[in-house]
Amino acid sequence: TMASIPSTMKGVIIEKNGGTEVLQHKTDLPVPQPKEGQVLIHNDFVGVNFIDTYFRSGLYPAPQFPYILGRESEGTVVKLGSGDVYGLKEGDKVVALSEGTYAEYTAANAAKVMKLPEQLAPKVGVASLLQGLTALTLIREAHHVNKGDWVLVHAAAGGTGQWLCSLLKAVGANIIGTASTSEKVALASKAGATHMINYSEVDVKSKVMELTDNKGVIAVFDGVGKSTFDLSLDCLARKGSLISFGNASGAPDPLTISRLSAKNARVMRPTLFNYIVTREEFEGYVNELFDFVIKEKLDPHIFKTYALSDCAQAQQDLEGRKTTGKLLLDPSK
Ligand code: NDP
Repeated sequence: TMASIPSTMKGVIIEKNGGTEVLQHKTDLPVPQPKEGQVLIHNDFVGVNFIDTYFRSGLYPAPQFPYILGRESEGTVVKLGSGDVYGLKEGDKVVALSEGTYAEYTAANAAKVMKLPEQLAPKVGVASLLQGLTALTLIREAHHVNKGDWVLVHAAAGGTGQWLCSLLKAVGANIIGTASTSEKVALASKAGATHMINYSEVDVKSKVMELTDNKGVIAVFDGVGKSTFDLSLDCLARKGSLISFGNASGAPDPLTISRLSAKNARVMRPTLFNYIVTREEFEGYVNELFDFVIKEKLDPHIFKTYALSDCAQAQQDLEGRKTTGKLLLDPSK
């Protein structure tokens, strides 16, 4: 209830761009007021995503300083803003895609908030949301993958990578994943990759060509970016799609379009947020994703839950390729 909402909270702000040293854990940030169409969420768990590091580093510009990082959380609705809040009520357990989630409380646009199904544990809900929706929209809309298709997934043991493996397996695709260690290879295989390449030991292009009868793959899902872009193009089949959806190794270099003619290839650069612009799109994809998780009893791999005050360590681990699956933050600590 309103009476139990404090006026200040813990949260992490940046006042400038830089390395993890610019992350400032504060204990006296004002609790935000939900504006029209917003709900105030008391966060239980906060998802860590690579995009948080881009806003920190400046690769993506922060809208203002000071700026609270974060894009994803799970928690309880504690206050409603005015106007349409899509039927949400105080006390609802929800997941949210919102700015400002590295904090105890987030004022989130209700249009991007969904009730957590009773069958889903809070950690599963938040571990599914941003990365699961990304994987789902990529294989549906960026390149619609069909049963029997050969596809390549870079960083297959990562957060988004494991989701791609699970969802592509359900489609019945032939999934070639890449990862840097044998431990990561095992996790991606468990998530659903049908073939794994440890790229620290094996040449990716040769192996892809061997597995595909020298044809290459019809789609590459590449969230690694700069260091894999050329390789991804090399692994494509004729008429294949290179879906470049991230910059874990840095932003890819500019592309000379004529390079695509060798295979009549497509290159695409999608972002989740532009696939879920309307409430209908967001709700449709979240419902489909959660139905899948419930039906398959999917247990997304959670690498670690860090204290919010340790978010610098979490980001360093993510950027340092030390992690697998999902990283969470506990905003109460
Ligand atoms: P991951 O858990 O996948 O972590 C990144 C992984 O990338 C690492 O574990 C590592 O796996 C691999 N990698 C390869 N080279 C590097 C490098 N130089 N530095 C760091 N990592 C490297 O992170 P996320 O799932 O959060 O994100 C994956 C990618 O997807 C990111 O680029 C992110 O921006 C993008 N993304 C895009 C979205 C969109 O809407 N377009 C939405 C969500 C994510 P390994 O050791 O096996 O190589």
